[in-house]
Amino acid sequence: MKTIYSKNHILRNSKTELYGGKLVKPFERPERMEFIINEIETRKLGPVLEPTKTNTDIIFKVHDRKYVEFLDVAWEEWLKLGLGGEAIPTVWPSRSMNSNIIPNFIEGKLGYYALANETSISAGSTKGAYEAVKVVLTAAEMLEQEKSLFALCRPPGHHASKDQYGGYCFFNNVAIAAESLKDKGAEKIFILDIDFHHGNGTQDIFYDRSDIFFSSLHGDPKEAFPHFLGHANETGEGQGEGFNINYPMQPGTPYDVWTKNLDDAISKIKTFNPDALLISLGVDTYEKDPISFFKLKSDDFFDVGRKIASINLPTLFVMEGGYAIKEIGVNTVNTLKGFENG
Ligand SMILES: [Zn+2]
Repeated sequence: MKTIYSKNHILRNSKTELYGGKLVKPFERPERMEFIINEIETRKLGPVLEPTKTNTDIIFKVHDRKYVEFLDVAWEEWLKLGLGGEAIPTVWPSRSMNSNIIPNFIEGKLGYYALANETSISAGSTKGAYEAVKVVLTAAEMLEQEKSLFALCRPPGHHASKDQYGGYCFFNNVAIAAESLKDKGAEKIFILDIDFHHGNGTQDIFYDRSDIFFSSLHGDPKEAFPHFLGHANETGEGQGEGFNINYPMQPGTPYDVWTKNLDDAISKIKTFNPDALLISLGVDTYEKDPISFFKLKSDDFFDVGRKIASINLPTLFVMEGGYAIKEIGVNTVNTLKGFENG
């Protein structure tokens, strides 16, 4: 399997994350990619190629123009304040406030466009996010010739909604890939999100669509980030009613329980019969992940890949989360090897 990867992901390199009441080194950090690339090379998954697509205008099919323009200037505007730290929002248009008027001042704009505040913006953050888009667009284009591909995206994307960033995500890479495949003639796309966290951004983007089916296996939002989306009763709206399925699961969920929900999702994929399958691949379902609570073991990821292969569709894996950094490469490549040998 070919991997598409941009070394320029390093442009996204903030130094702080607000966690546990302290500013800590971000869980989502550049070294994650080193462990994955090393494992891909050691185990000979296949060639690692640089992105060739540079036009990212398709972003505007997924994200609001004003949101993209905000990301383009957020760091420069923050820098002008001369405060020293990285850009972290502190105020939101919460339930009792008015969210219809977008503030002019950067402090207000950060709160308007952020869904959480663990994702600090620093120099290069947005440029790094564009690199992930180039990676996923290159992979989507190559999917016409390849049975499967791995878009090794960083930063991840599945928490980014039409006009909000957070959960380490700025642009929704997998959603952009789906729109790209639609542009090339695909009629139906299925996005299966197996990251530990609910893919709230992807759900938001396609919630009223019947041509792009979204399904997510994740920690119950009553117990886990993003806390305010990902419940089982969210099934789509309008044209999209019935084309969104969530599988929230409890703390401590082991593989034999998790995989029953995967089997159910696979039956939905087969019934929907899409032209292509996009996998939001997070390996933070791993038992030792520092910010998650499922109990998957490294060997279980082979089985995940094997089951996805059994669907027998053109399949694009798009990297999302995974924060047990030493094991992230093993767990990611186990999934992809399981797919290849499936
Ligand atoms: Zn995650």
